[in-house]
Amino acid sequence: MSWHYQSWRHALARRGIKTAKYNGNIVARTRHGIPITVKESAQQGKAYPLTPGQAKEALDKMPATAISGIKEVNFRDPGIPATKQDKAWAQYVRTKKRINIFSQPYKNGKFHDTECGGSKSEVAEHMKDYVLPHEVGHHRAAKKDPNLPIIVEEAKADAFAAKQNPDDPLITEMHINDRVSQFGSKGTI
Ligand SMILES: [Zn+2]
Repeated sequence: MSWHYQSWRHALARRGIKTAKYNGNIVARTRHGIPITVKESAQQGKAYPLTPGQAKEALDKMPATAISGIKEVNFRDPGIPATKQDKAWAQYVRTKKRINIFSQPYKNGKFHDTECGGSKSEVAEHMKDYVLPHEVGHHRAAKKDPNLPIIVEEAKADAFAAKQNPDDPLITEMHINDRVSQFGSKGTI
């Protein structure tokens, strides 16, 4: 961070203007230095599908070539009114180079998605094994080609999560309905 940027932030702070650099408090960093942040605690009746520590554990296993350039991994509520986002466990925001991880309805020790509900540990395993690699796969694909059609990016993200080669030309030909792997009714975007 440059001296100029620091002093600019300082000047704004003296006027009571906050210049939040991230979308939440930094609670951990990956081994690559990517901040894992929490925007807010999960609301009543909701829980996060894994902990920031578990996210770090999964992300630390990713190759630097795939993960480099991600600006933030942010735990947040999907928001109201319901949008496409609350149908997903996580999302890669291409314009921000940010992975969002969404809090989910949680009751009596279970997540209540119809097909992939489960205990915290079961869902956390899915998040580490599939959902986070899928989102990193989105980032990797968008980094290589920012103009990739979303449908191709989706297929490449799934290939990456399934430990196949996303750069195989066959993947590009795949339609989203022929996804390499699925994560129940609650998709990843
Ligand atoms: Zn996706």
